[in-house]
Amino acid sequence: CGIVGYIGDKAPKTILYNGLAKLEYRGYDSAGIAIIEDNKIELNKAIGKLDSLGEILNKKYIQGNIGIGHTRWATHGKPTVLNAHPHLDCNKELALVHNGIIENYRELKDELIKKGHKFVSETDTEVIVHLIEEYYTGDLFGAVKKAVKYLEGAYALGVISLREQDKIIAARKGSPLVIGLGENENMIASDIPAVLEHTKKVIFLDDGELAILTKEKVVITDLKGNEKIKEITEIDWSI
Ligand code: GLU
Repeated sequence: CGIVGYIGDKAPKTILYNGLAKLEYRGYDSAGIAIIEDNKIELNKAIGKLDSLGEILNKKYIQGNIGIGHTRWATHGKPTVLNAHPHLDCNKELALVHNGIIENYRELKDELIKKGHKFVSETDTEVIVHLIEEYYTGDLFGAVKKAVKYLEGAYALGVISLREQDKIIAARKGSPLVIGLGENENMIASDIPAVLEHTKKVIFLDDGELAILTKEKVVITDLKGNEKIKEITEIDWSI
């Protein structure tokens, strides 16, 4: 029920973990973080309190400069490590976090299974990452844009790829998502407190919008991929 994502010069592990801690109030039953390091996706997940994930992360030295994190409130599939987010595609090149519910996941899952996709979780979410994999032809933004057209229900998404390690793609329909604008770093989160330690400048993503975050800039588009000019809000409270 909480999303956080970071791209920039710093190592994301602690930033993502602290961001998730700020979203604990939203409720959750499990948590996970995916960071790109040494050309692979370093994935860590745990059920229960965030501390359990913290204990795993504390034992690991993870560098990198792009990652996504999630606290899950299970709607489809029990709170298990396999069902916890981030979810990966078959080739373990894409990682995705999702808040919300995909109403038509069953039909999508059946079609994707026919096309040869192997599922490892019971979640509705996993169909999204396989759908993006299906449409990926070297353009992550294009693949996400195409995939979300087939989703019915509610989503806030964050996606990263080994093939394009310089960007996070985000999308929103019916679940909140804010973008934090920093200096040589940018973030996504379900709510403002998760980014406030790093920046007070935010953009609120609206329904039907996609975002491309690189460390230098953020571009927001509509579902057709046309760029939109968005208002930047300066948050005048601190935590
Ligand atoms: N429906 C998804 C799941 O059960 C996402 C739940 C959430 O928003 O945390 O995994």
